[in-house]
Amino acid sequence: MTSAPDNQSVAAVAWREAALAALRERGHRTGGARTAVIERLAAGGGCVEAEELARDLRQAGDQVATASVYRALTLLGEIGLLHRIALPSAPARFELVLPDGAHHHHLVCANCGSTDAFSDEALEQAIQKISARTAFEVRSHDITLHGRCAACRAAAQ
Ligand SMILES: [Zn+2]
Ligand SMILES: [Zn+2]
Ligand SMILES: [Zn+2]
Repeated sequence: MTSAPDNQSVAAVAWREAALAALRERGHRTGGARTAVIERLAAGGGCVEAEELARDLRQAGDQVATASVYRALTLLGEIGLLHRIALPSAPARFELVLPDGAHHHHLVCANCGSTDAFSDEALEQAIQKISARTAFEVRSHDITLHGRCAACRAAAQ
């Protein structure tokens, strides 16, 4: 499991405020599952699977149904505050859409399905250059690298 870098915590607090404000603006009642999901996402920095998030919330004492967690995640995605990353051979992950654009990408092990995160400034710059030299306006990107994780490599030796 990966956790967000520390420098995202200020942005995560801003994200939490934006998410709660967005719900209020749209007339959604805060409290219950939606608020619990927002608090948990802001605290954890994102990069979670829906089932995992629901389990964590219940373990922390929030009585939330998995279906309510899915609905909250879908709503936050529609508002543009979450980015749903579809991964092969692993459940989708939800990432915070932060005002400063900070994000990461994933390394997925084809053998055991484990997912790790990475970020790379040169990669981001390369994508910006592509956007600049083509007529295509790039708004977002998903990058997933496929291969074999360290544990599976070690086990194969
Ligand atoms: Zn992630
Ligand atoms: Zn593996
Ligand atoms: Zn990127």
